[in-house]
Amino acid sequence: MDPVDLPLPVVRRPREGIDARALERDLRSRVDGEVRFDPGTRAMYSTDASNYRQVPIGVVVPRTVDAAREAVAVCRGHGAPLLSRGGGTSLAGECCNAAVVLDWTKYCNRLISVDVRNRRCVVEPGIVLDDLNRQLAEHGLMYGPKPATHPNCTIGGMIGNNSCGSTAQAYGKVVDNLHRLEILTYDGVRMWVGRTDDGELRRLTATGGRVGELYRGMAALRDRYADLVRERYPDIPRRVSGYNLDSLLPEHGFDVAGLLTGSESTLVTVLHAELELVPVPRHSALVVLGYEDICLPPTMFPPSSDTSRRPWKESTTNWSTSNRRSTSTPTR
Ligand SMILES: Cc1cc2nc3c(=O)[nH]c(=O)nc-3n(C[C@H](O)[C@H](O)[C@H](O)COP(=O)(O)OP(=O)(O)OC[C@H]3O[C@@H](n4cnc5c(N)ncnc54)[C@H](O)[C@@H]3O)c2cc1C
Repeated sequence: MDPVDLPLPVVRRPREGIDARALERDLRSRVDGEVRFDPGTRAMYSTDASNYRQVPIGVVVPRTVDAAREAVAVCRGHGAPLLSRGGGTSLAGECCNAAVVLDWTKYCNRLISVDVRNRRCVVEPGIVLDDLNRQLAEHGLMYGPKPATHPNCTIGGMIGNNSCGSTAQAYGKVVDNLHRLEILTYDGVRMWVGRTDDGELRRLTATGGRVGELYRGMAALRDRYADLVRERYPDIPRRVSGYNLDSLLPEHGFDVAGLLTGSESTLVTVLHAELELVPVPRHSALVVLGYEDICLPPTMFPPSSDTSRRPWKESTTNWSTSNRRSTSTPTR
């Protein structure tokens, strides 16, 4: 085969005016963690599971969530862009950018608490899904969404991508299995967000400062676009592109955690997540179906997605609230 001339890669340079050396120095002096600006590290973190490549300004591996908060503050002081990184298994370049990369996986990977009665747990964002489920197994619980990358993907990354996988028919996507998020905005607001009832929303929109401003902005966005969102957001099972503006609709309880799910590090940094859990199924089996014609499977699919036939349905507490972003069942 003749050699093919490929186009040159697009290299987005860090924003003009960022003094990378001064940034590195300040991160080293203020952040409890590893600060790596060497070419080898930057090359390693320049890609994810996609074909994209963006060389980061540098990498910070915070030892604690508070250290990550401090790293964000330092970056803000320098006007440097930020990107969180979990397992880096993203397929569309979500996890590479000419930014300071915060790697959560090495230290900020703990299961903080489990509320067995309400089937919830609180985690740090760098915890790997399989590690979480191993620890939850002693309580007979697990996290429902399961991307194929479950031995490597993290909860932070799953939230970033609004992931789901082979269990989607039963449990839906991350947005369907999330109670609350503790988030940090680039300008330093740290708060827990989730569903917001009318009284709480009134209180928050009347609050002064940046929190009030954020809630007033989100309420205005909802009021302005609610009808359009209802009319135009596609009713497809695995809608994970764009921002989840539908989460702010009254029928979804002004769910700010839902809004931020799938935002791929573009809106906030997730510091902690409170997840909704499901019981571990008593039995599981893998069924492999073979078809003579590729057109046949879709015609066979609807009966198997009939939720009323699911043997585990009665033990799945959150199914009635799950899948609330769609009237049909998730497919992936
Ligand atoms: C072979 C293969 C199979 C896959 N199968 C599936 C599948 O079945 N279903 C599916 O949904 N996906 C699948 N994926 C895509 C990917 O694995 C999943 O979306 C996975 O959940 C990403 O997790 P991660 O920890 O690797 O995230 P990353 O790639 O590390 O990050 C994902 C996004 O989340 C952001 N992020 C990470 N941590 C934070 C944080 N603390 N705060 C804010 N944002 C954050 C990142 O910036 C990025 O934008 C697959 C990928 C591969 C390579």
